[in-house]
Amino acid sequence: MNVRSTDRSTAGSSATLPANARILSHFGAMRTDGEASQRQLLGGKGAGLAEMALIGLPVPPGFTITTEVCATFDAAGGRLPAGLMSRVREHVTLLEQETGKGFGSDVDPLLVSVRSGAAVSMPGMMDTVLNLGLTDAGVGGLAAASGDERFALDAYRRLIAMFGDVVMGVPHALFEQVFDRIKRTEGVTDDTEVSVAGLRRLVAGSLKVYRRRVGAAFPQDPYRQLQLAIEAVFRSWNAPKAVAYRRIAGITGLAGTAVNVQAMVFGNRGSDSGTGVAFTRDPATGENRLYGEFLINAQGEDVVAGIRTPRPIDEMRAWNPQVHQQLLQIKERLEAHERDAQDIEFTVESGRLWMLQARTAKRTGAAAVRIAVDMVKEKLITREQAVLRVPGEDLTQLLLPSFTPAAKRSATVIAVGLPASPGAATGRPAFTAEEAARRADAGEDVILVRKDTSPEDVEGMHRAVGILTSTGGMTSHAAVVARGWGTCCVAGAGAISIEEGRRRCAVGGRVIGPQDVISIDGSTGEVMLGELPRQMPRMSAEFATIMKWADEFRRIGVRANADTPADARRAREFGARGIGLCRTEHMFFDEKRIAIVREMILAEDEASRRRALAKLLPMQRRDFIGIFTAMKGFPVTVRLLDPPLHEFLPHDAAMQRQLAEQTGRGVREVRRRVHALHEQNPMLGHRGCRLAITYPEILEMQVTAIVQAAIHCRRRRIDARPEIMVPLVGTRRELQLLRERTLEVVDRVRRASRYAGKLAIPVGTMIEVPRAAVAAGEIAEEADFFSFGTNDLTQLTFGYSRDDVNGFLPAYLAQGVLDRDPFQSIDRDGVGALVAMACERGRRARPSLKLGICGEHGGDPDSIRFFHELGLDSVSCSPFRVPVARLVGAQAELEARMRAGD
Ligand code: PEP
Ligand code: MG
Repeated sequence: MNVRSTDRSTAGSSATLPANARILSHFGAMRTDGEASQRQLLGGKGAGLAEMALIGLPVPPGFTITTEVCATFDAAGGRLPAGLMSRVREHVTLLEQETGKGFGSDVDPLLVSVRSGAAVSMPGMMDTVLNLGLTDAGVGGLAAASGDERFALDAYRRLIAMFGDVVMGVPHALFEQVFDRIKRTEGVTDDTEVSVAGLRRLVAGSLKVYRRRVGAAFPQDPYRQLQLAIEAVFRSWNAPKAVAYRRIAGITGLAGTAVNVQAMVFGNRGSDSGTGVAFTRDPATGENRLYGEFLINAQGEDVVAGIRTPRPIDEMRAWNPQVHQQLLQIKERLEAHERDAQDIEFTVESGRLWMLQARTAKRTGAAAVRIAVDMVKEKLITREQAVLRVPGEDLTQLLLPSFTPAAKRSATVIAVGLPASPGAATGRPAFTAEEAARRADAGEDVILVRKDTSPEDVEGMHRAVGILTSTGGMTSHAAVVARGWGTCCVAGAGAISIEEGRRRCAVGGRVIGPQDVISIDGSTGEVMLGELPRQMPRMSAEFATIMKWADEFRRIGVRANADTPADARRAREFGARGIGLCRTEHMFFDEKRIAIVREMILAEDEASRRRALAKLLPMQRRDFIGIFTAMKGFPVTVRLLDPPLHEFLPHDAAMQRQLAEQTGRGVREVRRRVHALHEQNPMLGHRGCRLAITYPEILEMQVTAIVQAAIHCRRRRIDARPEIMVPLVGTRRELQLLRERTLEVVDRVRRASRYAGKLAIPVGTMIEVPRAAVAAGEIAEEADFFSFGTNDLTQLTFGYSRDDVNGFLPAYLAQGVLDRDPFQSIDRDGVGALVAMACERGRRARPSLKLGICGEHGGDPDSIRFFHELGLDSVSCSPFRVPVARLVGAQAELEARMRAGD
């Protein structure tokens, strides 16, 4: 057994508490030392209990051993500080006085619960020990005092099993086996049907299991039980699962866990006893009503274990109207005091209500919004507090379908990847983009399953109801494209192995083919077997209200990344005030256009290239007219073509043959051209502004289309406001050259169109190459605006390929090399420092310079806070994240005001 000796002689031999350490804090009707603000010291549970006692709610008395003691225990290598147990004895004496019972008494024993409780809730970190203090001799006393031998024996067998399992590491199943054997002998199935004689045998059998596994008898000294349990709770703070939980949840800076020792109250003392959990408002919808459930004649663990089906709290009125009424009063009392919805646990012992816990209630995004808005109306909180209270991330749940919680609970999860684009999709797998498009056209719901995706796949990606990749990170092609469309996507599900060229994949020994049905949850990254029921979002009036308030407080502008009129309209509906990034290459991938684009790329000379471009011009113009119209009155930043040309050409032999036929060229010629354009590192290759330098006619066509579209709109009184953005600039000269060419074309088109009206088209650049950030001062002299492309800037600053990062990122996160995926949340110290430097140098050179960000970080709450701090003018993100950015932008402003003491 790996449990350290707890003899009083060893305990405390080396651990000494600092002189000013706070050790124990009492709560109860007679005395309460702590209060809600002491979460760090008392843990969430301890602070909550103290606060409830303080405002006069019925709380069984108890005391909290503070997190500072845990820190000392850890520092001393797992020893309790000297003198702690004698202080514990003093507080137990107080409990004896308040309850009129004796700890370890064999007449009417005081029993206590021992629970952990850190400042931040860490569910499942450490189980609870109930009924502590009961001994062989005490059972008789409890039976006599309660007049219920069955109850006393049941309490004792629960203690032996819980203490054995939680404190001494004896597998719970061993105790269950004893119970099962007795139930078999008595011919019963239910725990409650076992006879009193059977319970006696169960106690004896459990004690035997304990002795055999622990190598010592179950402790008959209640203080020894208590000491062992306290030590076990403190040890659990550094158990691997707790350490992992804190790492995953990003919890740092806590001293340790507190231990709460509290007098037991029993919900299983007969039909006038019971136990339950409730929320002061409906945690799913936010409706203002007491919501919860209770069980008659049961202990709290019976509710959690789900052995018996609890009854809705409303039925309590018929069972015990006084207690029901008292709970309703407590709801009002707690909400008025905490000014937020609470989640409570209670027990009714022989008709008397006791509160065991109250804490801020977890809730869905929809409930968070409704509760915040309702509480403003009820004058419990201010608008500012309401805006600050809704977690930005939760808003995405309101805009997309999700699987029902019941379906999720029973789902078979076969793999977990990155939650790349939220939503919920069910369909049959298609393993190539062509197949996905074909089967989708035939009316099937397909999920495109690929190792990764490339621009060639967009057609199939767009038709699919969901996208699943086995490699790639949060800014891989699949992730970025899916987020932009609001298509559900799980990326980098490494457990899935996809054999190229075969219409199937394997995962966990299971083979999945085109006929199987799978479901993917883009909010959690889970991949599940079969179809799961979904729920559709509803945009509530409260949602509109909270957004309106957010817009009143927000300083940073919010735009969207959108490439089609439909996306632009959606972005506008979600509240975007402009487009910060229109990726024009996405317009080139349309089925009909790709052939012309390929013709342009295959062209050997400028004249034939221009002929192909002339065919693309009206198509681009039409798109821009649609987008400018959808965004009328707001700026639309159009980025010139970015990806390398080879991405537009087919790489497999069959498609190359097809292209040769379509264009009337020889297969050899096509192959030669593909070969000529091949690059070892396309991301570092012939892309971005480098394309416009080498093929100026592409820039010319795109700028012509933009200007003609703008003039077309303006002539129809549509307030088109295009901006032109040059990608991947690294030097001043690149931008200078392309700006000149752009302005020349603008001027030429304007004159050719005989347009004399106002048409100022700002020309700016993306800052996505580290050199551009460093040389931002001189680049700013050529730019009307900067937009930080933090996807490429992260890729190039770290030197991590954004498409292959998943090969090592999980290991980096697991080993703490990185705290977070830098493609998801801005790396403040590195990439962020470059952004800050570029802002400062850029503004110094050109004070009127407008600054924005259009990488994926534009929709990430932490990153938005950072960009707000830097004083950026706007963030741009995918349409579905626009509400998140609006809300978080406002929160950043309100937090800044609070810091400044406004
Ligand atoms: C970026 O690099 O951050 C960016 C927005 O451009 P893209 O994702 O298209 O490379
Ligand atoms: Mg980029």
